[in-house]
Amino acid sequence: MVQKVIEPRLNPSPMVVTLTAPNPPILNDPTLTSTWSHRAWVASGCTTVLISLAKAIAGAAESHTWLEPILAGLLGYILVDLASGFYHWRIDNYGSSSTPLFGTQIEAFQGHHKRPWRVTRIQFANILHVLARGVTLTVLPIDLACNDPTNHGFVAVCSGCIMFSLKFHAWAHTPKSQLPLPVVALQDAGLVVSGSKHAAHHLPPYDKNYCIVSGVWNEFLDKQRAFEALEKMLFFTLGVRPRSWSDHPSSSCMDQRDSDPLM
Ligand SMILES: [Zn+2]
Ligand SMILES: [Zn+2]
Repeated sequence: MVQKVIEPRLNPSPMVVTLTAPNPPILNDPTLTSTWSHRAWVASGCTTVLISLAKAIAGAAESHTWLEPILAGLLGYILVDLASGFYHWRIDNYGSSSTPLFGTQIEAFQGHHKRPWRVTRIQFANILHVLARGVTLTVLPIDLACNDPTNHGFVAVCSGCIMFSLKFHAWAHTPKSQLPLPVVALQDAGLVVSGSKHAAHHLPPYDKNYCIVSGVWNEFLDKQRAFEALEKMLFFTLGVRPRSWSDHPSSSCMDQRDSDPLM
């Protein structure tokens, strides 16, 4: 008879997010592996981003104006981290698996709180394909209609970071010893979110450090209690309660129980 497994809890130390599975995952689990459809969307997403980047560089070289496209790219990079925080907060706190459009993601993010290590087992194209599809459908028309290098500086960096944001997040859950050296260098430089920056998010009630691109906004947003203010505003105006108000640490042990012994 197969026994239920209680997943080990995330080490509360903010310096450690190395999460290992109590048992190896199912190797042919279709929710973890990439399909050709996933790879096609990632290829099309990367192509549209690279076209945008090429147009930014070509336009800047032609007009000899590099400053504006570079500043636009930096702005895109900073804003996308902020946007990732608000999106993550919304997905974590409101709605359910039956919510139109967002239901699948809400379910996935809730599952991630219960089984954080699992994200490290999802193959590259599988983890990226949903956002790659969104990037393709958004950036392709911009590539076709616009030649302005400043606009493309913003679009290329912003869309590239959006598309790879879930991979940045997966890297934050991967032990450094298992990451490629360039990724470790990016984490150490603070350019992509690191395990130490992301760890606080995994402490119940999961109401901190929502930003998952660079994590540069986390400290500011948490100090200003920005999400708490929004939650109170939504509660007093619409009467909806965020999930974080009921995800107390005392209930997290029960949440850690998993009905699937291999997951
Ligand atoms: Zn979360
Ligand atoms: Zn996480």
